Amino acid sequence: MIFLDNASTTQIYDSVNKKIFELNAQNFYNPSALYGKAIEVSKMLQEAKDNLAKNLGTTGEHIIFTSGATESNNLAIFGLSTNKKDAEYVFSVGEHPSVFDVANALKSQNKIIKFVDITKNGIVDENSLLNSINQNTHLVSIIHVSNETGAINDIKRLCKLIRKVNPKVIIHVDGTQAFGKIPVNVQDLDVDCYTISAHKFHGPKGVGALYVKNMEKLKPIFFGGGQQNNRRSGTENVSGYVGMAMASEIACKNQLANYEQIKAMRDYVKQEISNNCKDFVFNEAENNSPYILSVSFKGIRGEVLLHMLEEQDVLIGIGSACSSKKQSNRVLENMGVQKDYLLGSIRISFSSFNTPNEVKIATQKLIEQYKILKAKMSK
Ligand code: PMP
Repeated sequence: MIFLDNASTTQIYDSVNKKIFELNAQNFYNPSALYGKAIEVSKMLQEAKDNLAKNLGTTGEHIIFTSGATESNNLAIFGLSTNKKDAEYVFSVGEHPSVFDVANALKSQNKIIKFVDITKNGIVDENSLLNSINQNTHLVSIIHVSNETGAINDIKRLCKLIRKVNPKVIIHVDGTQAFGKIPVNVQDLDVDCYTISAHKFHGPKGVGALYVKNMEKLKPIFFGGGQQNNRRSGTENVSGYVGMAMASEIACKNQLANYEQIKAMRDYVKQEISNNCKDFVFNEAENNSPYILSVSFKGIRGEVLLHMLEEQDVLIGIGSACSSKKQSNRVLENMGVQKDYLLGSIRISFSSFNTPNEVKIATQKLIEQYKILKAKMSK
């Protein structure tokens, strides 16, 4: 099986998996309990927080462990919302559903929501962003790397532009497809909160974190035992968090080397598609993550191509796994991808587990199956 749907999830590092197994077997104690074994576990948890924080360019007291990016995004936006009547919230239309649908939930609570356009390349439209910021803007949420196309938003620049208009704006960034793949330093980016998810960088599923610059401002959305300084109640998934910190260490250490290798694989697939297919568009930005390649073919169904490739032992995606059961693709539509191309969209996404040879085989199969499908469709 050749797995090229790594934007949906990644295979866990073997060493991380072993560590999680070992901790669950031997160090299963509740970190809030009072005896020595539990205190040891609570120290492990703190160490995991400190190590993960280091890889994000911050320190442990700014990290909250969560159940993944969906929770981190919900916590950031709901937890930093305000009751002020005139407060405005700004979101790009390129956000993942775990941000976009929070925006809609706020809207149904009668909050003032503004949506910012994305360009035909899938990045935030700066003019649209700046037009939406004013002295009432309370929070802005922008995706770092698009889960649909891999388009990279220049977060540092956007933060500067936003703060020039209103220095008090809280800026949240969903970095789920960025962390471990491109350089991320939350202090350098100058964000107020930043979301990550372990299963996107070869860590376990159901495990994530939120960086928060100013913890004092964050209201909890889970109430209970008061864990994590009252900001996120619930017994901590200790082995998962230790596993996430470990995965972050491996991913960040190898980030540069992986980037180059994966870029070469993506370039190869692009070249082969360009040489062998017709009537298609690459949905990408000038500055695009090499981990994601989005292509829209005219006159075929991406979903059909996906299943034809599955028959050939190649797994790809057709867009965000969380929304792939929905008929449309909001992000591609907002980029202006035309209707007769939209349904023919596929997403190929790489990881450091892929080899150039398997990518070559998968590409051959993709082109073969594309040609079969195209011939069928034109009959
Ligand atoms: N944000 C982005 C950009 C994502 O790609 C995903 C995963 N598809 C999520 C949020 C949700 O992540 P999780 O599965 O950890 O809840």
